[in-house]
Amino acid sequence: LDGQDSNAHEEKIFVAVRLRPLNERELSKNDVSEWECINSTTILFKNTLQERTMLPTAYTFDRVFRSDASTKQVYEEAAKKIALSVLSGMNSTIFAYGQTSSGKTYTMSGITEYTIADIYDYINMHREREFVLKFSAMEIYNESVRDLLVLDGAPLRLLDDPERGTVVDKLTEVTLTDSNHLHELLSVCEAQRQIGETTLNELSSRSHQILRLTVESETREYVGAENTSTLTASVNFVDLAGSERASQTLSAGTRLKEGCHINRSLLTLGTVIRKLSKGRNAHIPYRDSKLTRILQNSLGGNARTAIICTMSPAHGHLEQSRNTLLFASCAK
Ligand code: ADP
Ligand code: MG
Repeated sequence: LDGQDSNAHEEKIFVAVRLRPLNERELSKNDVSEWECINSTTILFKNTLQERTMLPTAYTFDRVFRSDASTKQVYEEAAKKIALSVLSGMNSTIFAYGQTSSGKTYTMSGITEYTIADIYDYINMHREREFVLKFSAMEIYNESVRDLLVLDGAPLRLLDDPERGTVVDKLTEVTLTDSNHLHELLSVCEAQRQIGETTLNELSSRSHQILRLTVESETREYVGAENTSTLTASVNFVDLAGSERASQTLSAGTRLKEGCHINRSLLTLGTVIRKLSKGRNAHIPYRDSKLTRILQNSLGGNARTAIICTMSPAHGHLEQSRNTLLFASCAK
């Protein structure tokens, strides 16, 4: 895109933290906000109860957002550039990470909408190229992959393709006619997830959702032969399982087995992200989980990645919020 430079900093994972406002339930319990963004990059633990703690009180990231920041602002400042790199042929992934009810879906669905609008604007302004957009959507639950565009479909297998890397076998990929078409498909996915939620008991807190938009473009013939080019890339919008699922695995006892299974993708993602942030030479264990296998080509290497960590400001969620900041710190 215009003005996009490729300095070393941009190859790192972009890490942002977003605080949401206290919700009704937290307010009715007279819970208080423990966190304050003191500038655009630092979030501070206020320690309202004056607890003695060895943990850090200030955390710095690429960007932090106060609870009154709009999703539009989060998109513009933390996701837009990375998501739209798909238009210059670069794969990218935007993650929402955080405990259940911290605002992952709220943030991710907004970011997805704004990206789609910007992609269609760009296409309309660049008539010299011909664009084809394709959409697919999947959910990973208990290390089993489900097609969100197929009702009650069988679990999908992952295959290793010598050219394309890991592919999800038989995953529906719909070629889009226009943005309305895409919005219809997004409602299908949402409905599918809601069906899951009632039958499988808060499934969305346990499952990862990946929405994938693939952009193919080609110089139109009449433009002339000297600068013809073909580009193909995907942008992935990933609404992760609640991060409390990762910490639960570490506590012994109840549902440990289920926990291990549920969390393999989340734990492996943590390891992959940590290793990627440390440099290129390490062995990256992409193959240890379905989520990281599916996203392998869109993480690290030449791909662009942003992680938006969402957080409740409430004292009652202090432990989970700290875990989230710890994860975010490892990704920097
Ligand atoms: P998660 O997907 O992490 O479980 P949700 O995105 O569903 O959480 O958010 C939980 C509730 O909080 C929803 O009702 C949502 O509308 C609301 N919410 C989340 N983030 C914000 C925000 N930044 N501002 C206002 N409301 C929010
Ligand atoms: Mg959600």
